[in-house]
Amino acid sequence: MKIIFASQNPNKLREIQPQLSNYEVLGLDPTLFPEELNETGVNLDANARQKAEQVWEKTHESCFADDTGLEVEALNGAPGVYSARYAGVKKNAEDNMNLLLLNLSDKNNRKARFRTCISLCLNGVFYEFEGVCEGEITLQKSGEKGFGYDPIFLPNGSNKTFAEMSLAEKAIISHRGLAVAQLVNFLKSY
Ligand code: IMP
Repeated sequence: MKIIFASQNPNKLREIQPQLSNYEVLGLDPTLFPEELNETGVNLDANARQKAEQVWEKTHESCFADDTGLEVEALNGAPGVYSARYAGVKKNAEDNMNLLLLNLSDKNNRKARFRTCISLCLNGVFYEFEGVCEGEITLQKSGEKGFGYDPIFLPNGSNKTFAEMSLAEKAIISHRGLAVAQLVNFLKSY
């Protein structure tokens, strides 16, 4: 079965591909989607759905999209749905991490969680999945792997940040890995 992953982020594609090895997972065709997909929803579910809808409407192929946010307890859930643009429209990971570390510098509570919402579209019908990974924001960046906020996120029960883990280690416990596992189970029984 062929399925389009509605994302322009090669890091995400690399993360999810091993879990979906029984499927032919295609990225977005840049000639059909030369611009970034619209993401104007008020929450992660709405953004995932909006992205999957745009791909379904143009291709009429099976597709799914994910939207992820980092929710920090002491910041009342920020950056949340605004995680990509936390430090501005450049969507720069270093700037985002630096701003988050700064905003947490006077806080003792560093609890945070990553949440991924997936919207799957099969034959025009949409199905939703969610994965959550609880952890905390470290005092400084650590690790070179991964992307986004990975160097400052320490999952509960781990002594490594996401950026210090292999793809396989991250996928077992991560928000995206857990959401994709649900998607795979659903596809198996479909
Ligand atoms: P989006 O899902 O691509 O909109 O991602 C929102 C923001 O969260 C972006 O800044 C991403 O770099 C970041 N992000 C998404 N997934 C992860 C992850 O697995 N680890 C670290 N940062 C992530």
